[in-house]
Amino acid sequence: MSYSESSAPLLDRLGRPFRDLRISVTDRCNFRCSYCMPEQVYGEHYRFLPKGDLLTFEEIVRVARLMIGLGARKIRLTGGEPLVRQQIERLVEQLAALRGLQDLAMTTNGFLLAEKAAALRDAGLHRVTVSLDSLDDEVFRRMNGGRSGVAPVLEGIAAAERAGLTPIKINTVVQRGVNDHTLLDLARYCRERGYIARFIEYMDVGNLNGWRREDVVPAAEIVERIDAVWPLEPIPSNYPGEVANRFRYRDGGGEIGVIASVTQPFCGDCTRLRLSPEGQLYTCLFGTHGTDLRGPLRTGATDAELLDLITGVWRARADRYSELRAQLDTPRTKVEMYHIGG
Ligand code: SAM
Ligand code: SF4
Ligand code: SF4
Repeated sequence: MSYSESSAPLLDRLGRPFRDLRISVTDRCNFRCSYCMPEQVYGEHYRFLPKGDLLTFEEIVRVARLMIGLGARKIRLTGGEPLVRQQIERLVEQLAALRGLQDLAMTTNGFLLAEKAAALRDAGLHRVTVSLDSLDDEVFRRMNGGRSGVAPVLEGIAAAERAGLTPIKINTVVQRGVNDHTLLDLARYCRERGYIARFIEYMDVGNLNGWRREDVVPAAEIVERIDAVWPLEPIPSNYPGEVANRFRYRDGGGEIGVIASVTQPFCGDCTRLRLSPEGQLYTCLFGTHGTDLRGPLRTGATDAELLDLITGVWRARADRYSELRAQLDTPRTKVEMYHIGG
């Protein structure tokens, strides 16, 4: 019997059930966002994972199937940039066919979405979240390492909408003094089109983005700034463990979310596991090490053995980095965001 059928959900050491799986399908990306893969570090000579180190689609699907048996209901494909993985729609198709999966989403920078949206929808993807930090071309370029203006991303978003990959969410990482003066434009753009804007507090993920607390614009301030123009009111979460705090416009103009991982950590509700491109399992976005699944997958482990391994990882989990951040005086070496996909 699988965990999904049993009455007792798989719980970690803090009593949290396992619900969501985030699969990072590649460590490569066509952008160089300064808060994630700064150009100075990920330059021309940076060595990304060789192809043979990446989990194959068959391996990913096998892990996903086992995870659904353990309680996963949502799968999000991420990266790096998921759309630079060759034939990603083939993976989508295989995942979409898994029984028991309720939600199959992707987070993308949108650069290749205009050409891929229809194929992704046909393959069975339910919806996309597109990252877009500003509608101001200059600000946007500065943030993505000069890789793209706004236009291709907007075209990608429009194509996703036409293809029915909805509701569309727009992720915006907010950095003080960098893009926070352009938030209202983004809020307006989303309001006018029925997209859900999600403003994310700039996080100290990885080790390379030079994070400083003073660069974070607290979610409460973001809400205040938008509320001053278009009054907002809080609304309840869609489900336990939702990372965004939701608000709706009082005039009926849709909703926004703020992800306050720095100022209001939500570890108590964290139900996510993350699978890296080379098959390491991470129990926290700020994890220092993963558990290798690729080795067992490639040396003939049975489903039962893999289930034991994954169950053991979840049962041993006690992560709550964001809640403890303020008390940690020594910086630790964490996994990079582009590696496990946010
Ligand atoms: N390349 C895809 C994209 O950008 O949408 C997927 C991977 S990206 C790592 C996933 C999400 O993490 C994006 O929305 C990105 O903006 C967010 N992110 C990356 N670094 C971050 C940071 N330091 N703080 C907050 N969010 C971050
Ligand atoms: Fe690439 Fe996404 Fe990281 Fe930007 S946030 S560098 S688009 S992986
Ligand atoms: Fe989950 Fe770790 Fe983020 Fe806390 S810090 S919400 S445990 S991923």
